Amino acid sequence: MDKGGLAVGSLLALNQALVYKWRWRFVTGSNRLWVKVIKSCYGVDGGFLGGLANSVTGRTGVWRGVLKLVDRLHTAGTLSRDSVRRQVNNGASTRFWSDVWCGPISFQHRFSRLFHLTTNQEGMVSEFRNGQSWQFQWNREVRGGASAAQLDQLQHLLEDVVLRDTPDGWAWGLNDSSEFSVADVRNHLDDMRLPAGNAPTLWSRFLPIKINIFVWRVALNRLPTRCNLVSKGIDLETVLCPVCQMEVESLAHILFQCEVAFALWGRVATWCDAYMPVFDSFGEVHQWIDGQSTVNFRRSKMEAVCFTLMWVLWMFRNGMVLVIRNQNKIYCLIQLSLIHIIGFVIGIKKLIEIGMRG
Ligand SMILES: [Zn+2]
Repeated sequence: MDKGGLAVGSLLALNQALVYKWRWRFVTGSNRLWVKVIKSCYGVDGGFLGGLANSVTGRTGVWRGVLKLVDRLHTAGTLSRDSVRRQVNNGASTRFWSDVWCGPISFQHRFSRLFHLTTNQEGMVSEFRNGQSWQFQWNREVRGGASAAQLDQLQHLLEDVVLRDTPDGWAWGLNDSSEFSVADVRNHLDDMRLPAGNAPTLWSRFLPIKINIFVWRVALNRLPTRCNLVSKGIDLETVLCPVCQMEVESLAHILFQCEVAFALWGRVATWCDAYMPVFDSFGEVHQWIDGQSTVNFRRSKMEAVCFTLMWVLWMFRNGMVLVIRNQNKIYCLIQLSLIHIIGFVIGIKKLIEIGMRG
């Protein structure tokens, strides 16, 4: 109610939260008769993971309605797919490679090379545990190169995993109690949709519409980063960042944490002669812009500079994807990086000049 209005959005959110609860009921009620019936019709995941297109084409009915809504909330980024996630205790009923249980995506997608090398693609977490250590068997030896790097990363992630004596369960990600709450989902959906009263507009009058629309998609995490594509059930060869090939490509990584992004944010701060903190997410950029002085259009200028930089980083990333697809054309890489870097330098400097005159 603190957002004003007629609370119509809130009523919609309540209905959607009630429907979303079916996902929670489904995963936590595996012994119930209705869950078994749904599984026999829609597969072991109840149709939640396969996507509508694969599992329920042509079917109608109540469950299809549930799947449609849940899919829509996930795809729009309004509610994260891993708000319902596997809680590993003894590891006896969680699939090591294909379930999402450690980190934001499954190991199958995160470490695709290792997944193709393992002799046990369907194994449970506990099957890979031997005393206090982890044990793997491969079709051929993992030696050097990308596979060895993936194995290092996997082992690093597994260092913090502790197995307990109780059966595996499910955890609800929106609160600390691990229990689903309709009220939580409703509040979350409202927060995602209704603009807070004091939020600055995310629209810069200095920039073309396409960049403004891009920023709006960033704010809603709707860019097709590899992490987002995989969480929508799209099969990719790799989820690694196309620029550095080291980390999972999430929105925060590609726009802020990747080495190229990190370096450029630093440069831009120097050019603008501004103190900019190290940003880790779009929320932090937004907050920082919000805190800038409105005197002499400073806030609008910094907003335009930050948005343009994010746009350029995304264009650069798209260029890299193109280069990776056309591996034999190495000149493509040189051309693209030159165009982008020169374009970027000219663009940003011009923008700053115009801004400082204004
Ligand atoms: Zn990167």
